[in-house]
Amino acid sequence: MPLRDLLASRVPLRPVVVDNDGNCAAIGETWVGAAVGCRHVVCLTLGTGVGGGLVLDGRVYRGAHGVGAEVGHLVVAADGEPCSCGGRGCLEAYASGTAVARMARSRLTNDTATASTLRELGSNVLRAEDVTEAAAAGDTLAREILAEAGRMLGCGLTSLVHLLEPELVIVSGGLAEAGDLILAPARAELRRRAFPASVRHVKVLPAKLGNDAGLVGAAALVLAKPERP
Ligand SMILES: [Zn+2]
Repeated sequence: MPLRDLLASRVPLRPVVVDNDGNCAAIGETWVGAAVGCRHVVCLTLGTGVGGGLVLDGRVYRGAHGVGAEVGHLVVAADGEPCSCGGRGCLEAYASGTAVARMARSRLTNDTATASTLRELGSNVLRAEDVTEAAAAGDTLAREILAEAGRMLGCGLTSLVHLLEPELVIVSGGLAEAGDLILAPARAELRRRAFPASVRHVKVLPAKLGNDAGLVGAAALVLAKPERP
């Protein structure tokens, strides 16, 4: 669909630029967020799914036809959990809000021995936010679920670090609000798996702009004039 032309015919503002949310978040964080001054940045958004954007040598990398950098669909487990894309074992199937809610429901059903405040909510209405809130309050089962999501995130990061050796990995999105409950196991798994030389200088940090990263990046596409899609 020619979305840019469609928008341009309806709104009086110029220029009209269309880009995806993952790229916009990466641009926003590099413009005024956690990655200011960095030229090699991987940005991951852990929301309902897992989105992402890559800044390589100071430029947003979009692939040959603008549909690259789908980091949420890096395969971290051959024949693993089903993913929203129709495939199996993608990072999104382990490190998204949807995945965390699924893992929590599964644990609550299959592990009746471990006490958890999540049981009071009823597994049908359980959301990822409930898991992060319970984990922040010290719930062991909720913490184990976030640690598992973090470990799988670390597996995905290992491939990205081996491939790209970025200076910085920024993690944003609702699940990133769990902070070190998910980022510490991700860092540990990354350091355990990656070549020491590849990972030595890589930092894994939460986003600075939070959920506004995409909005700020969209503004930057017009105001700061980086290379546009
Ligand atoms: Zn997928």
